[in-house]
Formats: sequence, C-alpha cells, structure tokens
Amino acid sequence: MKNLMKEDSTYIAGTYKRFPIQIVSGKGSVVTDIDGKGYVDMGSGIGVTSFGIADDEWQEAIITQISNVQHMSNLYYTVPCIELAQMLCERTGMKKVFFSNSGAESNECAIKVARKWAEDKKGSDWYTIVTLNNSFHGRTLATLSATGQAHYHEQFTPMMPGFVYADAEDLDGLREILETQKVAAVLIECIQGEGGVVPLSKEYVQGVRALTEEKDVLLMVDEVQTGNGRTGALYAYMNYGIKPDVVSTAKGLAGGLPLGATLLGEKVENVLGFGDHGSTFGGNPVSCAAACSIIRRIDDALLEEVKEKSRYLFDALNGAPGIEGVTGMGLMIGIKTVKPASEVIAACIEKGVLCLSAKDKVRLLPALNIPMKQLEIAVKAILEACAE
Ligand SMILES: *Cc1c(COP(=O)(O)O)cnc(C)c1O
Repeated sequence: MKNLMKEDSTYIAGTYKRFPIQIVSGKGSVVTDIDGKGYVDMGSGIGVTSFGIADDEWQEAIITQISNVQHMSNLYYTVPCIELAQMLCERTGMKKVFFSNSGAESNECAIKVARKWAEDKKGSDWYTIVTLNNSFHGRTLATLSATGQAHYHEQFTPMMPGFVYADAEDLDGLREILETQKVAAVLIECIQGEGGVVPLSKEYVQGVRALTEEKDVLLMVDEVQTGNGRTGALYAYMNYGIKPDVVSTAKGLAGGLPLGATLLGEKVENVLGFGDHGSTFGGNPVSCAAACSIIRRIDDALLEEVKEKSRYLFDALNGAPGIEGVTGMGLMIGIKTVKPASEVIAACIEKGVLCLSAKDKVRLLPALNIPMKQLEIAVKAILEACAE
C-alpha cells in the first residue's frame, strides 16, 4: 500500500485525494481491499455501478458484445446503440439521442444543440445559456463555464462566454434574465448533486418550464447524476411532472463503462445534421450493450424498490443523534452531520462502509439493487459515526 501510494503520486497527476484503500475485487455492493477487508459500497463509483460490482447480467451483456465486436466507429451500423437509443426514446418520449462518453460531453452536446437551435431560429447573438448558482455540469472548459460555482473557475480563466447564473428558487430573477438577455436555453439539475444534494422544489421546476415555454427558450436538464433510476424515477425530471427539451445523462447509464447520452426532444430533434457533432468512442457497442442491460432492468418494480429503500434511509437517519438533516430523493441522499463530513466518512471506513461527500454533507449513492442487509449494516455504521 505504501509503495502504491508513492508510485501513484510519482506518476499520476495530483488531481485526486484518494483514501488509503486499494480495492481489488467486489461483488454487488460489497468490495474487498488488498488485505481482505470487506466494505459496504455506499458510493457505487459516484453513482456509476447501478447494479453493483461485477453484476452477472451486466457482465454477460458485455462479454457477449466484446466477443462479437468491441468497436467499429460511427462510420458503420451496430445494433446496441440503436437498441439503446430506441429504448431511451420510448421510455422518455424524447425523439433522438446523441451518444458520447461522459457527463461533461453529454452537456457539451446539449450546449452545442442550444446554440445551433437558437442561431437557426433567432440569430447568432442568441447564444446565452442560463445555469444555476451552486450547479455542477463538468470539467471541460464549456461545462466548467456552465458550472455556477466560482471556485471551480479560479485559475482557468477566461471562462467561455455565453453563460449567466441565476439563483435557484428565484423565478422573478430568471424572468428578468430571460426578458433582458438573448437566451437560448436554461440548464438545471433537478437535484444539485455536487452542490450538496439539494433538490429543487416542484413549484420552481414547473415555473422554469412554464417560463421557458412562454419565452420560447429551451429547458435542458442535466441528469448525469440523477438519471437512470437514481431518484426512484427513470429520470429525475419525471418526479417533477415536466418534460424538458434536452436531457443529458451519463454516470449510471452503462453501469460502470463510460457512456454519455444527450436526449433531444421535439423542438431540437433535427438541430444536429451531418458533421455538426461527433465522437470516436461515443455509442461504443460494448458500453451500449451494457447500458441496454441496465435500462431494461430499471422497471417499475426496481423503481419501487429504490423508493422503499429511500424511505428506509430517510426514516433511519432523519433526526438521529449527530444528524442535522437529510436531503435528496431515491437513493441520492445528502446527510448534514454535526461533525465534519470528512470525520464521519473516515469513521465509516473504519467500520467497513464507504460513503461519499458533497460539499459539507455525507453523500450516499448506493447501487440501485443494494440488498437490505447491506443497507442496514451501512446505516448502523453511519449512525454510530455521527453519534460518537
Ligand atoms: C458528474 C457530473 C457531471 C460530469 O460528469 P463526468 O462524467 O465526470 O464528465 C456533470 N453533471 C453532473 C450533474 C454530474 O453529477
């Protein structure tokens, strides 16, 4: 472990603060480190391994596809990306899909779509995209510019022009921006994930939808973290009774392989034409075969299970000693602890439970199918860590 840490810091760019744990294997929601110690995984690779580690059905989908063809580029037809796009459109009512490899890229595509749509329709100066303060949309320069948190921007200036930040829950403020600036789209996360697991209110999200319709501005929803069953609905916007014009997603979509998707609604389905956008790896058949197996399994029964486990977590954690509050939806949960989140997370590691943080909160994003037994072990450890 000591050698590994030294080699890591010698050869890997120092962008990540890692915990001193070397994971070597896992199954479902239990992972094992180099010393054979098991941990309940309450982070699922930051909401990525939707059905846990090395899930049988997911593995089989990948192995089957990888033994047929692992990559052909987008110059030829392959089945998995078409099957996945059809499934996503049928389940959401969206019209077309562009595939990429990550959350940031799925937002990049959304931004390009908004700019082209607005230029075609209103003129080339209608490029402004409104995002929310405390949002997170990715690390590429455009998505960093879209991210409404100044500390991410520092030392990478100048940011890309064309982004304006509004306060969440302030519809009057948003109206004023839409009436005074040339806006192409509003981009929101229904639950701000990296911002500390902060759900937007139903009233506000529905207000944003009404306002964007009134002003003929696109509503784009970043479902990179909230998507693919995470909140108890296939996509979080479905909990809000709205229909966006563009939906971006990634993280849990392919259950642990890189894949991003940008779903295009009626208004924008034909905005992208030949040569307007592209990706070498986007829509890779192995990632898409994995995603087909994931999306197929996110049915009503699974979503009901997610909601039940969510209720269990809220009931167990809310109001417990050392816990100030619990926010979130489904299996995307933020815990405001009396002690610093980092201390709680460290204590949980000792007890064999891996948790995430988001701002000043402990964040839980377990696999959608985490067994109750492991959830109970995790809750016990978290309660102890918060109360100690
Ligand atoms: C993680 C995340 C992103 C960035 O995704 P990457 O795959 O890391 O590029 C964008 N938006 C939201 C809401 C996210 O949670």
